[in-house]
Amino acid sequence: MGEGAIIVLEGIDGAGKSTLAAGLKAWLEEAGYEVAATAEPTHDRIGAVIRGGIEGISQRTEALLFAADRSDHTEAMERWASEGKIVICDRYFASTVAYQSSELDGTSADREWLLAISSRFVGVPKATILLDIDPSAGISRVEARGEARSRFERADFLRRVREEYLRLAKEFGFNVIDASASPEEVLGEAVRIVQEAI
Ligand code: ADP
Ligand code: MG
Repeated sequence: MGEGAIIVLEGIDGAGKSTLAAGLKAWLEEAGYEVAATAEPTHDRIGAVIRGGIEGISQRTEALLFAADRSDHTEAMERWASEGKIVICDRYFASTVAYQSSELDGTSADREWLLAISSRFVGVPKATILLDIDPSAGISRVEARGEARSRFERADFLRRVREEYLRLAKEFGFNVIDASASPEEVLGEAVRIVQEAI
């Protein structure tokens, strides 16, 4: 049994994370790896609270809920990796920093504080892949998927989120992929990154 690893996928809605996670899983399994595909927020108890809808909660409190969910999830992922699995995690601490530091409905959390509550998580992934896309392209993809969006404020917010993601990528050495490329090209680049990491 080979050594496991945790690989994280990041990017705004519509960037192609779910599509890439499925593609990577298929490629890795074909290559003989055992794969655990997972996502945040989780479907565990705290993740379920988040997924149940947390409108009206400040960005700061939201960040703490995400971090609480991430805490047990990280231990689970580390266990799966220690069993030799390649763990593919859709969203991790960078999502919390990027989204909760960006102003939404008049509240935002302090970036340094968000990084401080993320310190336990920073060294966990072997690689983080940021799928970078223009927010309007991401929103169009989500709409084509049939999900409703309140687009104007949302696009503005997502532009800040994108900038923050790119800043984090520089600081933490994430691998940035141009997510406007075809799914095949995105997968090809991601496979190269994962092969190098594992
Ligand atoms: P995310 O999980 O990041 O929100 P998805 O993987 O669900 O993104 O992709 C959003 C939509 O865009 C889906 O309908 C998907 O089929 C489509 N899509 C994903 N990747 C690409 C791509 N590289 N080019 C064009 N469309 C894509
Ligand atoms: Mg998705």
